[in-house]
Amino acid sequence: MPGIYLHIPFCAAKCPYCDFYSVPWRRELAEEYTAALLRELSRWADLDPFRADTLYFGGGTPSLLPPRQIASLIQLCRERFGLPEDGEITLEVNPRTVDEKTLREYRAAGVNRLSVGLQSPHLEELSLLGRKHSPDQAAQTILQAAEAGFTDISADLILALPGQTVQTLEKTAAFLSALPLTHLSAYLLKIEEGTPFGAAPPDRLPDPDQAAELYLAAVRLFDSIGFSQYEISSFARPGFEGKHNANYWDCGEYLGVGAAAHSFRKGRRFFYPRSVEDFLRTAGTVSLPVDDGPGGTPEEYLILRLRLIRGLSLSAYASRFGEDAALALRQKSDSLSRKIPHLFRFDGETLSLTPEGFLLSNSIFPYLTD
Ligand code: SF4
Repeated sequence: MPGIYLHIPFCAAKCPYCDFYSVPWRRELAEEYTAALLRELSRWADLDPFRADTLYFGGGTPSLLPPRQIASLIQLCRERFGLPEDGEITLEVNPRTVDEKTLREYRAAGVNRLSVGLQSPHLEELSLLGRKHSPDQAAQTILQAAEAGFTDISADLILALPGQTVQTLEKTAAFLSALPLTHLSAYLLKIEEGTPFGAAPPDRLPDPDQAAELYLAAVRLFDSIGFSQYEISSFARPGFEGKHNANYWDCGEYLGVGAAAHSFRKGRRFFYPRSVEDFLRTAGTVSLPVDDGPGGTPEEYLILRLRLIRGLSLSAYASRFGEDAALALRQKSDSLSRKIPHLFRFDGETLSLTPEGFLLSNSIFPYLTD
């Protein structure tokens, strides 16, 4: 199930916690960048034709691109990569960058899934995160999206914020349950080097035990409003698990195009440099991606599959990596599930982490991959 990822590296303002690659948005620059994406996608279609099942517009803020530019990129993916009419096409949207008319035009262009950057429904948390929208504006975007015909809408949230408590998360759950959402992605706040938060972390950050408590409370609360956890950071109503990301967690191949986009094709991982200028200069003419080594190793597959609640099937592992490798993993899994049954489960065929185990996965993986 290969997918295509397009990185749209423009933001109206930089959030102090974010280390994704983006530059300030300018209308002309964004237009030039879309033209460069079209050239580079055509080059890939000539060079390495494959059939794509999903398309994901990530950023940055893809909703800063007007619908006609999004439409031209979708059309090219349909014509040159066989992207089917019913293939999942996700667009990341920031509240305040769209209105109902724009959302209708995105829908008409073929986008059928939205990922809305809500981050928090509490004003004080949004201002701490440097977000430019209010909770009401985010709710309005989600309601307008439903009005515009979107039936698959995800919201992004950040956990373990300063001052966040189980009680504020209960209010978050109440806010979410009143909206027409089908999916949630919730990430623990990470203080990244090279960001304003990295230089001066906010006060009152939760310690690791408090962060774990908030994460487990969120898992429980999201479940209570109908969103089942299916991956370490992902929760969905039945039937609305994201398909594009499912391919990543299955260690599947994908093509990422655009400044800072990463790919995994034909056994190799590679990426474009974090530079819009370089991308504009070279798109469609020379091969810019930087090789990042082999992908799809047993260790990588294990780590990615164990992000999923349904875990890793030993027979699938054996068909990829052979019976000997599966036997070694079976023995380690047997022993680990006896030692830490509250963190790691193994029923003879499937190995998986519990939500508590997700929090300690970095300590568990070395035992399994050694
Ligand atoms: S969090 Fe989103 S909107 Fe904020 S800087 Fe990062 S990519 Fe841009």
